[in-house]
Amino acid sequence: MKNKLEVLLPGMKQSKLFTKTTKDAPKDEVSVNAQLLIRAGFIDKEMAGVYTLLPLGLRTLKKIENIIREEMNAIGGQEILMPSLHPKENWLKTGRWDTMDDLYKVKDASGREMALGPTHEEVVVPLMQRFINSYKDLPFAAYQFQTKFRMELRAKSGILRGREFVMKDLYSFHLTEKDLDEYYEKSKEVYFKIFTRVGLKDVTHLTFASGGSFSKYSHEFQTVTPAGEDTIYVCSKCGLAINKEIKDEVHECPECQNKDFIEEKSIEVGNIFKLMNKYSAPFDLSVKDESGEKKNVLMGCYGIGLGRLMGTVVEVHHDEKGMIWPEAVAPFKVHLLSLNQNDKSQEIYDALAEAGIEVLFDDREANPGVKFADADLIGLPYQLIVSEKNLKENKVEVKNRKTGEVEYISLSSSEVVKYFQNK
Ligand code: ATP
Ligand code: MG
Repeated sequence: MKNKLEVLLPGMKQSKLFTKTTKDAPKDEVSVNAQLLIRAGFIDKEMAGVYTLLPLGLRTLKKIENIIREEMNAIGGQEILMPSLHPKENWLKTGRWDTMDDLYKVKDASGREMALGPTHEEVVVPLMQRFINSYKDLPFAAYQFQTKFRMELRAKSGILRGREFVMKDLYSFHLTEKDLDEYYEKSKEVYFKIFTRVGLKDVTHLTFASGGSFSKYSHEFQTVTPAGEDTIYVCSKCGLAINKEIKDEVHECPECQNKDFIEEKSIEVGNIFKLMNKYSAPFDLSVKDESGEKKNVLMGCYGIGLGRLMGTVVEVHHDEKGMIWPEAVAPFKVHLLSLNQNDKSQEIYDALAEAGIEVLFDDREANPGVKFADADLIGLPYQLIVSEKNLKENKVEVKNRKTGEVEYISLSSSEVVKYFQNK
């Protein structure tokens, strides 16, 4: 069911869209995702690592957000929205005010210092301290979609590595390690669902990474693509992977004991961590268990970068002409190309929008070559072409952007609607 709060208009006319496509991306943008997203008018670059999401880009991001939201709700996550400005004291308490290299620090006119949140343990733990009074309040989980700030030194990968970016971060709270473990396993399953739904099935691998001092391993979700900044070793038998940074300690696949690995470049699209009491201890977030013994609340944290995920979809799904959006995250399903001015196209557009089939209508006064090139660049799943010749022959042409396959359907708006309803 559609979330009523997140309704996206089903139709849009390209003549009204304030963004335009361009032939060239800024010279300093080297990554494929930034090149294509900028040229197609999905994003605009403000400065290195900082981007505006334009109408087409925001629609795509909202689709990704809703997929993630559904899956977080499915594991009992309760949505909240925490602030970007964090009190310095909280960051001193965990020690990260001085140790986190990429922390942005700001000062107000009175000299008071604050952090611009790069992650939210320092806020979520004191927050939950105000609500957790007893072991009976556990377990639960809360999550948000929120803008993070990080002083990334190498921001050269387009929206894969922003200095300001939207992250989904979920935090879970547990009385026992067993309960945390069970929740952690559930989170793995829904993470795979998310990456499958956005079109990254088969190329995304559960990856062992070092867990820092408080647990042996953490897990990353790594998507294989040449654009990746990470290197992973994928088990040739079961598909599990190991991050290069820990590879020296691991000599066989932790899942199937196979010793044969394939080295790949990859992007970390998400990760999950057992924090244990790392952040509950400094804030003394604790409860008395059934026997009256005081215990630190145990925590897990679970992140996904939305922009990074969107950029990864572009890195994986494109060709020399442009992007190729998987249907679930495409800003629109259909690109209606009217190659001359005619009433029939308007009628089809109205019928599709009325039926809730998301359609971008290229109603501009432009030559067919321009329209085809733009449609391939923007990369909507289906191009619906109304040409003079098609009109004469009483049919419309449907071209699949991914496969290039062409089909003809009869020139009746109800037939066209039916066709896309069955797709
Ligand atoms: P990386 O090693 O790539 O810097 P990280 O370990 O710092 O990532 P986390 O702090 O665990 O990442 O953040 C959780 C998720 O947020 C990551 O899995 C990734 O999807 C996303 N993310 C992290 N940094 C960025 C960034 N600079 N821009 C966009 N997304 C990011
Ligand atoms: Mg980082």
